[in-house]
Amino acid sequence: MALVLVLAAALWGLGHLMKVPVAGRQAMVGLLFVAVVSLHLVLPAGHPLREATGGSAGEWLVLGGLVALVWLYARGLGRLRRRVRPENRPPPDSAAEGAFRAGELDRYARHIMLREIGGPGQRALKNARVLVIGAGGLGAPVMLYLAAAGVGTIGVIDDDVVEETNLQRQIIHADARIGMPKVFSAEAAIKALNPHVTVRPYHRRLDGAIAHDLFTDYDLIIDGTDNFDTRYLANRVAVELSLPMISGALAQWEGQVSTFHPAGGAPCYRCIFPAPPAPHLAPSCAEAGVLGPLPGIIGTMMAAEAVKEITGAGQGLRGRMVIWDALFGESRTIALKPRADCPDCGGGKGA
Ligand SMILES: [Zn+2]
Repeated sequence: MALVLVLAAALWGLGHLMKVPVAGRQAMVGLLFVAVVSLHLVLPAGHPLREATGGSAGEWLVLGGLVALVWLYARGLGRLRRRVRPENRPPPDSAAEGAFRAGELDRYARHIMLREIGGPGQRALKNARVLVIGAGGLGAPVMLYLAAAGVGTIGVIDDDVVEETNLQRQIIHADARIGMPKVFSAEAAIKALNPHVTVRPYHRRLDGAIAHDLFTDYDLIIDGTDNFDTRYLANRVAVELSLPMISGALAQWEGQVSTFHPAGGAPCYRCIFPAPPAPHLAPSCAEAGVLGPLPGIIGTMMAAEAVKEITGAGQGLRGRMVIWDALFGESRTIALKPRADCPDCGGGKGA
């Protein structure tokens, strides 16, 4: 028997030296095995060749069976490994765009362990470009949480400066920065929280002359504005460019949030609010007052929806609006439908 095993090893070694592929060497050893078993079956008992190669076919068949079992096991294991879910695999370009820098994996560890986000979701957040319109009550928590969550690029447009009356709720700003343009105050706070985020501050009002060019640099629009003209403009341009827009609004003790995205089957802002309300029906925060933590709650919900929109986790607020009543601690969710005669999106089909 030892003679045959030495012969098999010699065949394998020779094949290796001659650079025969593994499958070819396996075939050579397999042929040797078949030849030996055939010898035992054909030749009479006691034949010198049979005596020299182990005496009986039984031993060889047992050995062959064992080898076959090991081979099948290894093959099955390989197949199972190949069936690992594709979403848990690192993307092929992991070394290219948006590579994490030292320390970032620790920073985002609690995200990466979430099944719905994981490594690919965190990478999507890093590659995401989000434009926040308004650095006020809603923009403040949205930007802080998006920066903390690892959104790679945050643009912010606002023409105001920080005032003392803002600080009761706009927690991205600080007493020492009163008088500073809000976008630069926000930039300082974001950089202090997460230096890995790129901030693009635009200290000006959003208007029709720049909206289209500005929006094309972003994947997602966050509407945290406090006036209807800007909101309608943002909606129109977001619809034109097929960008999702997460929109929040506040009134005294009540806030609302929804994701408008006609290209994604949801209505746009104008489907739901076809015309601005009369000014006395929608007074501003300055005129009517607002609960300090309310923008925190609504803005943080907007940030959560943004993370979901970017990573594809769960079910977003497309076609739904959450309304939160802080005075009674109640919330409700209503379904929203596109309007066929919507001048902005033509009934949810996009521009
Ligand atoms: Zn519409």
